[in-house]
Amino acid sequence: MVGGPGAGKGTQASLLAQKLGLAHVASGDLFRDNIKRDTTLGRKVKQYLERGALVPDDVTVQMIDDRLGWPDAAEGVVLDGFPRTRAQAEALDKMLARRGAEVDQALFVDLDREEVVRRLSGRWLCSKTPDHVYHTIARPPKVVGQCDIDGAPLVQREDDKPETIRARLEQQLPPMYEVVDYYKEHGKLSTVNGEKSIQEVSDLLMRAIAQPAR
Ligand SMILES: [Zn+2]
Repeated sequence: MVGGPGAGKGTQASLLAQKLGLAHVASGDLFRDNIKRDTTLGRKVKQYLERGALVPDDVTVQMIDDRLGWPDAAEGVVLDGFPRTRAQAEALDKMLARRGAEVDQALFVDLDREEVVRRLSGRWLCSKTPDHVYHTIARPPKVVGQCDIDGAPLVQREDDKPETIRARLEQQLPPMYEVVDYYKEHGKLSTVNGEKSIQEVSDLLMRAIAQPAR
């Protein structure tokens, strides 16, 4: 599964795995799981995360490689959060080839950049009680800019502001498009419209699997 932030990729990957009876392998979960089990890789990951640094490709790749060796992965998996870069996509092909396997299909949940900004920048907090959380799309207050519970003005955190989100996307989207292009070049990419509802996107993905682009 390929998709930027805000596209509901994690939710869709989980639904898809259930429907297909495959394991859902999410890189974020793998990091956490390895840290929890205190594996050699987990200890490495922890060091990077504690420094606020990105986990290097070779560590991530080893972790995925290890996970693909588990019995529940024998029939295939739905990968989520990996590959994140072209280099990781190439590494994935290599590790699968060693197992006599390959990527069947890359499913891209496509979402317009401004729609992503709209979804991710919708969060507003009550200035009096920050536990009172609103979202302009998912949970709008009755009166714009005002808390339903105590009437206090709503404020937006720096991280949730559109300009912050746009700056973050400038960093995150180019590598994702490299991955998209990689699978397009290999004739494995199916794109679905991520602006639809969760249910509709899930149906589109199942249809894309039934009728691969190839
Ligand atoms: Zn409030």
